[in-house]
Amino acid sequence: MQYCSKCGAQNADEANYCNNCAAPLKAAAQVPSQSSAPQQEPNHQQTASQPTLPPQLQPGQKASLLDYLSHYQGLQVHWAKRFVGIVLDSIFVVAPVFVIFAFMDWWMGWCWFTVVAGVVLFLYSAFLEEFMGATIGKAIVGLKVISIEGKLELPSTLIRNVTKILAPLLFLEFLVTLVVQTTDAHQRYTDRLAKTTVVEKRP
Ligand SMILES: [Zn+2]
Repeated sequence: MQYCSKCGAQNADEANYCNNCAAPLKAAAQVPSQSSAPQQEPNHQQTASQPTLPPQLQPGQKASLLDYLSHYQGLQVHWAKRFVGIVLDSIFVVAPVFVIFAFMDWWMGWCWFTVVAGVVLFLYSAFLEEFMGATIGKAIVGLKVISIEGKLELPSTLIRNVTKILAPLLFLEFLVTLVVQTTDAHQRYTDRLAKTTVVEKRP
């Protein structure tokens, strides 16, 4: 068991980022993964008000994002921010594409609008995240994308954004994200494939 040095929330040993506030855990906590020494007494006064972890979030147990969301209020705020970020990005991308289609109606039918807007949203997200770590929507709500394995490269950002091509696909992916068990509750399903995660942008 490890305790977040920022918000004091309890996290399973497997977690790399606090499931409540997304602060990095390993650097601060220095808990060896094979250590079985029980840490019964948390030395942060913030933990006094923390409820103990439910059984499915105990170390060694597997949990879904739904389980994490039901326990960590900070995580609910995080995913609400993610939703606002994607809505903002959609507006930024869809509006220009809409204007272009309005002018070119005579040339390319409106049936292509959804596909073109999706592909533009996909490329916009992948290249901006590779370039500056966040889309404009994510930057506005204070989030950034990082690689778990080092530098954030274009192949990773292409993989994690691929479902944005088609809105129903993104929705389906989010449903999968909710129920498939994970140790990092900040990852969409494609984040797990791309070895990326989304954290709070520090000032
Ligand atoms: Zn925390």
